[in-house]
Amino acid sequence: MKADAAGDRKVNIFANGDAASGEVGNSFKVKLEKAGFAVVPGFDAAAEFIVCIGGDGSLLNMLAVLRFPDVPIVGVNTGHLGFFQELQPGELDEFIFRYKEKQYVIQELKTLRANILGADGEEDAILGLNEIVIHGARSHVAYLNIFIGDSFIETFRGDGILVSTPAGSTAYNYALGGSIVDPRLDLLQITPSAPINNSAYRSFTSSILLPPHLSVNVFPEFVRERDILVAADGAERAYTEVKRIRVAFSGETVRLLRFPHYDFWNKVKQKLL
Ligand code: NAP
Ligand code: MN
Repeated sequence: MKADAAGDRKVNIFANGDAASGEVGNSFKVKLEKAGFAVVPGFDAAAEFIVCIGGDGSLLNMLAVLRFPDVPIVGVNTGHLGFFQELQPGELDEFIFRYKEKQYVIQELKTLRANILGADGEEDAILGLNEIVIHGARSHVAYLNIFIGDSFIETFRGDGILVSTPAGSTAYNYALGGSIVDPRLDLLQITPSAPINNSAYRSFTSSILLPPHLSVNVFPEFVRERDILVAADGAERAYTEVKRIRVAFSGETVRLLRFPHYDFWNKVKQKLL
């Protein structure tokens, strides 16, 4: 069969900087080549799948560097939390066997896009798989006029807000007191960070769940500080006197290869509880 000829079934391998991840990468390369795959260096959009070795942070970093490729990804966890990573280093042979037998499922995860409209009218866009964070700069309070769709909600005052995907709900969102969301649910979550509540100010204190077609529109006020920070999956940029930040599902997805017995709640039990 032509598709089985070496060189046709391309695979890319990305390992984080650790020595241990590098070793797992080398051993996976040997095993994949023995199984008839061609491991090509760098990123190739024609690859059948991408192997990402490291933790969740390594996967997020790889997505940002490769600009959210369409190619399915299988993660190998090397001593981190590993919510996105399906394989342990001892499961490489099992994965190759099952993959060739088509015994896998693809988990499709939605990503968020933040559109940032600058003071000069120029627009910037960033993508995140976990979350978009809108935060005050230099430890100043952020003043954020928040609209959900076209409805004005409030002027939020506090450290900032976070908009999370279901996949990102177990990350920063969870640390801020947001809810863990089963990734089979299709929703957005807004979670406040250190909301100020006193006799002068009222800011929402719990997280808010939204249907997937709505956008969150934020119009910052610049009281003492001209900058606002916007971070996608931990990669932060400062914007000066930005007019508007809109956060919504992007239409782009990340596709993860999973064993057929993958179960989100088993991961939660193992990693968080
Ligand atoms: P990092 O310091 O390596 O990541 C922080 C931790 O978040 C790591 O333990 C990472 O797991 C874990 N993580 C990432 N995505 C996750 C997910 N979907 N579910 C559960 N845990 C997850 O920084 P990084 O590697 O650049 O990662 C950026 C992410 O860090 C951001 O997207 C944000 O969610 C998270 N973060 C969390 C806090 C907080 O909890 N207070 C603050 C800032 C950022 P691994 O060990 O497997 O890499
Ligand atoms: Mn990490």
